[in-house]
Amino acid sequence: MDVLRNSAKIPPVQLTANSTFKFACHKGLSCFTRCCRGINITLTPYDIIRLKNRMQITSDEFLAIYTVPHLLEKTDLPVVTLKMMDDEDKSCPFVREEGCIVYEDRPTTCRYYPLGVGSLSHKEQQTEGFYFFVQEDHCRGFEEDREWTVDEWRRDQGVDIYDAVNAEWTDLIVRKRSIPSNIRLTQKTKNMFFTASYNIDQFRRFVFESSFLDLYDVDKKTVERIQADELELLEFGFQWLRWLLFKEGDFHINEAAAASRRKKTDSKG
Ligand code: SF4
Ligand code: SF4
Repeated sequence: MDVLRNSAKIPPVQLTANSTFKFACHKGLSCFTRCCRGINITLTPYDIIRLKNRMQITSDEFLAIYTVPHLLEKTDLPVVTLKMMDDEDKSCPFVREEGCIVYEDRPTTCRYYPLGVGSLSHKEQQTEGFYFFVQEDHCRGFEEDREWTVDEWRRDQGVDIYDAVNAEWTDLIVRKRSIPSNIRLTQKTKNMFFTASYNIDQFRRFVFESSFLDLYDVDKKTVERIQADELELLEFGFQWLRWLLFKEGDFHINEAAAASRRKKTDSKG
């Protein structure tokens, strides 16, 4: 995600996968955990899955306690950022003196740091995507001698799985961004984007407890897959959003069910 950190100076230097830089981060540095305060971290769908599972709470609860909603600039799409504490430093709720208490499940942005991603498209990142330094004055990590290529850093920080799961979602955002901004989304579409992206428990209820599976022909194998596996359901949600936003994909209305629904609505009216 292209996340801006409040105090970051962003030098206009584009890095590619093979660019090298010197950096190391460890507890011995005077700046340890300074980067976890006063920041603006946009969360991706997979970030929320990992964090809410780590905390063993529902996505509804995670969103209510730990996030702030926003509209993503130039897209009119709803996204969430991690809610900082109300202390003097606006600290991340997961930072302690000894470090990050959700380290193994920390968000994508924290994994990339001190790099930022110059494109939201995962597919572009695989070829000629670019990165940049999110260089903050207090960060002493750049004074260390350990040398990395951007690719080595990504591997070391375990961002590949995050980028892979979020790939379809970031593509949706890139596509939406390229559409003229005067083409507005309905509130209903925005709500669905939010639900399918961030609230997997609510999206599950939408798929399995509404008339969705009557109205749309979804094959039995897919239904079994998305019922059994949360990540498959998330992926299905991205496909549903692609259909909703761009009318692309494999969703077909069951005409008989739609006609019967219309009949019921008419008879009520
Ligand atoms: S070196 Fe940079 S990334 Fe590491 S703790 Fe210090 S400020 Fe944070
Ligand atoms: S999630 Fe962890 S690494 Fe990221 S800002 Fe919070 S404490 Fe720091």
